[in-house]
Amino acid sequence: MGKILDIESSLASGYQHTDSMAQSCDRFESVLESEMRRLKQTSDVASNLDMLKIQVSERLASIENALQKKQAKDKAIREVAEKNRQAFKSGFTKLKQELDEATRYSEELEKKLILDQLTGAFNRRAYDKKIEDEMARFLRYGAGFSLLVMDADRFKLINDQYGHAIGDKCLQEIIKRTLPLLRQTDVLSRYGGEEFVVIMPETDADGGREVAEKIRQTIEKIEFIYKKDKVKVTVSIGVTQTREGDKHHKEVFDRADIAVYQAKAKGRNQVIVN
Ligand code: GH3
Ligand code: MG
Ligand code: MG
Repeated sequence: MGKILDIESSLASGYQHTDSMAQSCDRFESVLESEMRRLKQTSDVASNLDMLKIQVSERLASIENALQKKQAKDKAIREVAEKNRQAFKSGFTKLKQELDEATRYSEELEKKLILDQLTGAFNRRAYDKKIEDEMARFLRYGAGFSLLVMDADRFKLINDQYGHAIGDKCLQEIIKRTLPLLRQTDVLSRYGGEEFVVIMPETDADGGREVAEKIRQTIEKIEFIYKKDKVKVTVSIGVTQTREGDKHHKEVFDRADIAVYQAKAKGRNQVIVN
């Protein structure tokens, strides 16, 4: 706000300079007019050449004097105007920088609001919004989607054996390896703890299963070296697609969640479609 007021005052003083310049021109013009008039009168009444010469040089001296005054005044005005222009320019540059910074900051805040800090996946809040939108599209236009619910297997054991920091690294790695396997329109969110959800628009359960299987295979190949141990992590994934009669996204989620439980019951590290 301060910068905007500075710029406004620079603009106002710019107008003042234009006014002073115009006044200086007016003054010079009136001296010129009056001296011309006097010169004309002199030439009308002058009785001899010497007198005319004296009068002409007096008038010229007066005009020259007025011109010098005008030039000095103009120079001073121009100097002040230039200073002002520089101040205006730097004020404007600063304002633009501050505006860019504010935009960056608000973009960062926006990201923080929807992204999970640990993994960089969307957070639960973003999932809630995106699943609402996708379900609304399904109910209105019949645009079906698949939902993958993915839960890390025996993750408590990983934390207990290697520590929470290694557990965190595993979660980060799971997301890092999963993201490249998804389409741009798919939405991967951290649902909570070691549980993730993928919304896959315009995808049926077969397509969902295929992607889930790729994710499962990719993750089982990850090997962290911790001291002398190889840390391995696997995931169980439940897949479902929207069905006629689904009224709320919770029904879709519950179906996929049941499939996760079935995968766990069958020995984990597998994909079940429900
Ligand atoms: P299951 O195969 O049945 O899913 O076994 P589990 O041990 O993964 O399941 P459980 O729900 O008993 O434990 C989940 C564990 O995930 C416990 C919790 O400490 C861990 N966990 C949840 N969030 C985080 C996290 O942000 N970082 C780390 N390191 N661990 C987490
Ligand atoms: Mg688990
Ligand atoms: Mg869990």
